Amino acid sequence: PLGDRSYDISIGTGNLVDVGRWVTSLRSVTHAVVISDANVAKHYQQRVEEAIAAEGVRVTSLVVPAGEPSKSVSTAQSLWEAALADRVDRKSVVVALGGGVVGDLAGFIAATMTRGLDFFQIPTSLLAQVDSSVGGKVGINLPSAKNIVGAFWQPKGVLIDTAVLETLPRREYLSGLAEVVKYGVTLDAEFFSYLEANVQPMLDRDPAVLQKIVARSCELKAQVVAEDETETTGLRAILNYGHTYCHALETVAGYGEYLHGEAVSVGMLCASRLGEKLGVFDAESTQRQFKLLSALELPVATPKLDERAILSVMQRDKKVEHGKLRFIVPHRIGKVVLTPDVPSDLAMDAWREGC
Ligand code: NAD
Ligand code: ZN
Repeated sequence: PLGDRSYDISIGTGNLVDVGRWVTSLRSVTHAVVISDANVAKHYQQRVEEAIAAEGVRVTSLVVPAGEPSKSVSTAQSLWEAALADRVDRKSVVVALGGGVVGDLAGFIAATMTRGLDFFQIPTSLLAQVDSSVGGKVGINLPSAKNIVGAFWQPKGVLIDTAVLETLPRREYLSGLAEVVKYGVTLDAEFFSYLEANVQPMLDRDPAVLQKIVARSCELKAQVVAEDETETTGLRAILNYGHTYCHALETVAGYGEYLHGEAVSVGMLCASRLGEKLGVFDAESTQRQFKLLSALELPVATPKLDERAILSVMQRDKKVEHGKLRFIVPHRIGKVVLTPDVPSDLAMDAWREGC
């Protein structure tokens, strides 16, 4: 439950076919706008459409091109217009069927169309299932800045079917696992040990293990978000562990070079070495993360990039206050601390050491 705005998170294997009954059990619905991307639509759109229509709901299906460029003003405009053309009204609901791109975009459409429509998330990528579908942040990009236009708009429900991960490209899947590891390091040492003990089943997308890691990740994210829904107390910031380095890496290497989770993997190791340099984290714990991330086939080495460019992006990062670098620094597996005033030379030493 998220404060007084609790919503339903339903996690299962093969529960996608129940989506119609699930939506109508949460709210009475006569019209649903299902938004998806081309890759996801190919596999799942018909099933979702039929399941919703079977409950007597009129369905409008809208499909956008797959990929980050769809999180744009122009795609949003075409979706607003298409929804309007198919008689959307204030009682309509929006269903996001896809990865984080579709979730952020469709959520933004829901937040803005007729001043706000109820919406439901059906995340289909691992990243969306463990991260972006929970927490209520929705939005689109401008050419000059990511996620800069948006809202906090909580879904009425999130339906997670881990069986859909079967069709997710392997690289996308592994990238999502980096965020799963992040939950272990930031919030739950026991979960981290569970991950270490289940590398092979994770690589094999074993259904039982998927259930467990997705459920635990959602639970941990929901707990943090419940205590700091709009990012005011700073608690939610701990989920940015590894992300200051990650954003610098994504930006300097060029978007698309690294998948987000791949950059998170490198970033978490930089933040761990920073913890060692600050004298608050031990080398063995860095090593445990290194071993787990490499076993999950994620990148663990810092690439050779222009260090001044890396530092300058980190100084512009929103986690920087008053020119000082702020990092989420691990103190032990399962505990991280928001640390302001980190000297930039120390931060760069931790970067360089991973090369
Ligand atoms: P994505 O939505 O682009 O999905 C990755 C790729 O996998 C796409 O090509 C997609 O078509 C495909 N795909 C998704 N599910 C599939 C399935 N089951 N079978 C086959 N193909 C499938 O990317 P993503 O990694 O899911 O999400 C990244 C986005 O999430 C970014 O825009 C990021 O800003 C956003 N995000 C938002 C939050 C938040 O709190 N709102 C948090 C983290 C990330
Ligand atoms: Zn992330």
